[in-house]
Formats: sequence, C-alpha cells, structure tokens
Amino acid sequence: MAPSTASPFSRPEVDAVVVGSGPNGLSAAVTLARAGLSVEVLESEDTIGGGARTLDLGLAPGIVHDICSAVHPLALASPFFAAFDVRARGVEAISPEASYAQPLDDEPAAIAWHDVERTADGLGADGRLWKATLGTLARQQDLVVELALGDKRSIPPALLTPATALAAPLFGGMIGLQGTPAWDLPLRTERARALLTGVAAHAIGRLPSLALSATATLLGTIAHGVGWPIPVGGSQAIIDVLAQDLRAHGGTIRTGHRVRTWRDVPAARAVLLDTPAGAAADILGGRLPRSLERALRAFPHGDAAAKVDFVLSGPVPWRDGEVGRAGTQHLGGTRAQMAAAEAQVAAGRLPDRPMTLVSDPSVADPSRRHDGLRPLWAYAHVPAGDPTDPTELVTRQIERFAPGFRDLIVTSRGVSAADMPRHNPSLVGGDISMGRVTMYGMVARPTARFDPYRLADTGWYLCSSATPPGPGVHGMSGWHAAQRVLRHEFGLRQMPDLSPHD
Ligand SMILES: Cc1cc2nc3c(=O)[nH]c(=O)nc-3n(C[C@H](O)[C@H](O)[C@H](O)COP(=O)(O)OP(=O)(O)OC[C@H]3O[C@@H](n4cnc5c(N)ncnc54)[C@H](O)[C@@H]3O)c2cc1C
Repeated sequence: MAPSTASPFSRPEVDAVVVGSGPNGLSAAVTLARAGLSVEVLESEDTIGGGARTLDLGLAPGIVHDICSAVHPLALASPFFAAFDVRARGVEAISPEASYAQPLDDEPAAIAWHDVERTADGLGADGRLWKATLGTLARQQDLVVELALGDKRSIPPALLTPATALAAPLFGGMIGLQGTPAWDLPLRTERARALLTGVAAHAIGRLPSLALSATATLLGTIAHGVGWPIPVGGSQAIIDVLAQDLRAHGGTIRTGHRVRTWRDVPAARAVLLDTPAGAAADILGGRLPRSLERALRAFPHGDAAAKVDFVLSGPVPWRDGEVGRAGTQHLGGTRAQMAAAEAQVAAGRLPDRPMTLVSDPSVADPSRRHDGLRPLWAYAHVPAGDPTDPTELVTRQIERFAPGFRDLIVTSRGVSAADMPRHNPSLVGGDISMGRVTMYGMVARPTARFDPYRLADTGWYLCSSATPPGPGVHGMSGWHAAQRVLRHEFGLRQMPDLSPHD
C-alpha cells in the first residue's frame, strides 16, 4: 500500500485542505467547515469561483462578464444547493419566461418556454409528446435531479417513494429514445428534434449519444420545472455566498497559490482536490497505488469550448423576435446540422458553423446593463486544444440568425480552447467537463471504483467534476466527496446541517 501523504509527514496544521475554489471545492469546504473542521482552501487564481466567476474584463465600464458558467438550472435544483439555500442567503435568481430557444434558418424558432403548455402549443404534431415526456418529468423534477446528480453508487432516497418511482422508467426511456440512431422516430417535426438536440449540446460530443441524451433530458426537465435561472449580478453571486458561509464557520481561502505537488499543501488530515483526474495524479506524483495512478491518467479529456465575451450597444436583433425572450440560445440550426458540426469536432476539425451557445443575462437581470451597453456571453464547440480565436466564427453564427448583430458589437474578447487553462488550469485543452462525456464516463469518472472520490488510503480525495455526477454548477461532487471524508477520516456519520440558519 502506498504511504499516506496527508497527515503522517508532520503534525497536521489544519483538519482539511481543499485545492481549488470552484463550486465543488467550495461545496466540499463548506460541508467540512460546518461539521466543525478547520478548513483551508488553496486557489491558483487571484479570484475565487473557478467556472462560476463573474469578472470585470476591462472591456467597458460597469459591464461584468461570466467567464464560464452563466445560466444555472443545476444550481437551483441540486440537492446540495437546496440544502444550502442560496435564495435565502440573498442570491436572487431569475428564470426568464423562456428557458432556451432554437432559431432555425427556414422556419420560426422553436422555443422551450418555462410553461410546458405554451411550449407544446408551439411544437405542432410533437406538442403532446413533449408534454407527456418532459412535462411529466418536470412535475417529478426532484426525482430526476436526484437520479442524475447522485453519486451513481447509491439509490436516491426519492426513488424509494412509490409515487415518484413511476418517473424513473420515463427518464430512462427518454434517454434511450433520444440517445440512439433511432432518435428521429418518436418526434415528427424538425422543430422539436432541433429543440431537444440544442439542449443536448450543453455537453460536447458526438450526436446522438446516451450521455448527451441524458443531459438533454435532465436540463429539458428542469427547463419546465424551476426553469433556467440567471443569478442577479452574475454567477459570482453563488460563489460569494459559499465563501461567506465558509468564512463564517472558520474556514480560510488563500488565492494565487497553485498546487503543483503534494509539498505545496500544508499538512492536513484530509486533502480534497477540485482538479482534473490527471492533475491529481501529477500532484500526488508516484504516491498513489500504481493501478489508480494509471486509471487517473487514462481518464480521457473531451473536446472543448472556445469563449467570446461581447459588449453590445443593444439587444441581439434575432430574426425571430421571440428568440430574445429566452435566457439561452442554442445556435446550430437543424438536428442534422448540429450532429454534423459535433462530428467534425470529434474528428478534430473546426466546423465553419460550430454549435454555439449564447446568453444575454440582461434579459433576466437588467442591472447588468450600463450606459446603454450590455454583456453577451457565448461559446462554441471546437476540437480539444484548438488555437483559433473564436470571435469571428461565433459572430458569423449569431449573424446567421440575427442579421445586423455585427453592427452592435462595441468590443469583445475571444479565448481559444488552447488558452482556456490560462484562467483556470482545470480547463485542460478547453475541456469544460473535466473529462469526456460518455455514459460509461459519467458513472466511472474518473475510474470504475466503488468510491470514485477516495484516492486509496492516502487521505486525499478528488472532489471536482471529474467525479460523479460530472459537469455543471451543482456542488454535488464536492458534497459527495466531503461526506466520505467526514466518514472515513473523521469517523463522523451525521452529516452537517447546511441551512442558512445554522
Ligand atoms: C465556457 C463555459 C461555460 C459554462 N457554462 C455553464 C453554465 O452555463 N451552467 C453550468 O451549470 N455549468 C457551466 N459550465 C460548467 C461549469 O463551469 C463547471 O462544470 C463547474 O464550474 C465545475 O466546477 P468544479 O468546482 O468541479 O471546477 P472548476 O469550477 O473548474 O473549479 C476548479 C478550481 O480549482 C482551481 N485549481 C485547479 N487546479 C489547481 C491547482 N493545481 N492549484 C490550485 N487551484 C487549482 C481552478 O483555478 C478553479 O478555481 C461552463 C463551463 C465553461 C468553461
């Protein structure tokens, strides 16, 4: 057995160290601090929050940008955040009247309104099926979320209640129906097919696939449940309440501290890594059992996002005006066009018309506008490590559905996939999911072990989105990992109360 690297070398200075202040690092840190442990968070960047930071990029006075995540269906729906209760802590999150929109070249856009009836009315022959599937699941949102955001090792408590157990087969069936080459059969219209495919493309990968279908089913369900909320002021609002709670319970955060080896970490009884799997192997450098180290290094990265932050002098002039009422736009055209673009990315080629996601946060939160200017958040799917500045590609893709868009651009900042790790070392090659999104990889991330969080008997744990349930701002990986730390390293079986009143 490899030697323990956490505490035995010197007397622990702190009970637990968390490396990385992303949503998962902070959810783990908060859970541990609330259990009464002393906790220190080490963050490589000068600002905290990882993939949920809102920054002034200096593009225009008063305009701030969500440099990674912007729209938060998972943060409002996740069991961790439900227990932590961000709303009661003052985070105002507004769900736009339409969750997402799919503009099309030759016909009116398909829109997923928060209201499922209204959505179904716009989908013609597929309206009834949409309502019977996603509408039904939305009424059982808690079960769907528990299934999707669990540790993939235990039975979600909601599944044990007979009333909600009926939704599980529907959830599974929906994933199966939309995740195989027969995906066109149940849906008759291009509008419904494209609408669902656009939401699947929140993960990056070949279409159809079971993993992307699971993404579509989860996010499509929440779209008609709590909706797709946008936090007032930006994603940072979620991070700030986590950090506030951590500090209130004695925790500390050190920024500008990049951990490259285990020697950069103060002696602690437990260390949790909010990093990719390969980085965990690098940091522990030969101190893990060989088979585990090999497995961590072998967990494959996925393709990438390349980001553009725009400052606009007015709203995006969508050809179909209803598109602008949604908080998120999926730009890729028809189902076949999106699948072709994703196949090009998977083959390592940069598409002319890449799958592009867009959000104008000021649709929900007018406070994001300043002096007639507004931010626009956009990213395109590109091959891993692609060095191309995506600004022109993304601009053309928006122009395709919003002629005249180019004239509204005051300024912008493009970040290629290759450059994404410059502001977050966890975005390896621009991979926003800390590992390829496949069905096997969602369960066995980063390894097929029974406990995917615990790095053998070292006292070190992985708590990032490289562990189940995977990508997204939900804090669940950190929460699952912290529960194991409390049990194995501190012998605590009772999990702490996370509510704001404690
Ligand atoms: C462009 C983009 C758009 C996205 N849009 C959305 C969205 O709208 N909604 C949504 O839910 N999700 C979205 N995501 C995904 C989401 O941001 C991530 O899934 C989520 O942030 C993962 O959280 P995490 O804590 O696991 O990792 P991260 O948020 O990546 O945090 C990891 C942290 O660890 C730090 N770190 C890494 N290595 C070290 C080290 N060696 N030493 C010290 N510190 C280290 C990093 O600097 C970072 O702060 C998006 C991601 C990107 C990139």
